[in-house]
Amino acid sequence: SEQRLLEIRLISYGDRQLLLIARDITRIRNLEGMRKEFVANVSHELKTPLTVIQGYLEMMQETMPADDFNQRSLSLMSQQSERMKSMVEQLLVLSKIEDATEIDLQNTVNIKALLTSLEEEAQALARGEYTVTFDSDLDVEPHGNELQLRSACINLISNAIRYTEPGGSVHVSWKKVPTGAEFSVTDTGLGIEPQHIARLTERFYRVDDARSRQTGGTGLGLSIVKHALSHHHSELKVESERGKGSRFSFVIPQHLIELKH
Ligand code: ADP
Repeated sequence: SEQRLLEIRLISYGDRQLLLIARDITRIRNLEGMRKEFVANVSHELKTPLTVIQGYLEMMQETMPADDFNQRSLSLMSQQSERMKSMVEQLLVLSKIEDATEIDLQNTVNIKALLTSLEEEAQALARGEYTVTFDSDLDVEPHGNELQLRSACINLISNAIRYTEPGGSVHVSWKKVPTGAEFSVTDTGLGIEPQHIARLTERFYRVDDARSRQTGGTGLGLSIVKHALSHHHSELKVESERGKGSRFSFVIPQHLIELKH
């Protein structure tokens, strides 16, 4: 018949008594699976109509008489559909990352190569309006998933740029620490008040809605980071001061690191 999923806990009291608790979590797991599948399907299905809408909007922008009202409306419409497209894409990334419960830790990631490509991407995002600096004393190849690590790093870098005023600076570093290899992104941006920090990695959580919308934010970035890191036995650390700036970091633990000789 139907398979049931039980969660079993064994608690010991002293050395003579044991308490066994069994809980049927079949329904919870099924619902969770349905939620994930639903989100993945919906985001996938939304992609095609969005692409069609964007295509026609572009055509209209080129062919419509350059009447002020028309052009303004069209440009607003394309901005919003661009925003929707990035939300749909981020939702898909999130559902894939959430789904990959176990990643293949046999593969290794070349941090040096990753850093070079992150730097190119960061300079493109900064468009010359920010000072972006990189430094690394690392030549390690941790076990893990390159796409997921890249996604975590680029989300942190893009946030640092988006939540900093032009003219500010962003510093990215990979360095050796006693517990492993630490990646950090430090910015001289808006900063975050302490009461928000614990909730930043929740789906759709935003401190400043207006700013996030304006910069093309989806509220999903840090949630993606959190899942990608948990697959690498790591956690996001946030240090921030409102008005001064922030530092987002994580440590890839030593047991995942292979030192290159
Ligand atoms: P978003 O797409 O809105 O940027 P994220 O999940 O990436 O979503 O981040 C959640 C919220 O955390 C953001 O809306 C922003 O308020 C805050 N945040 C993230 N990174 C920074 C940063 N470097 N400086 C200040 N605030 C930040």
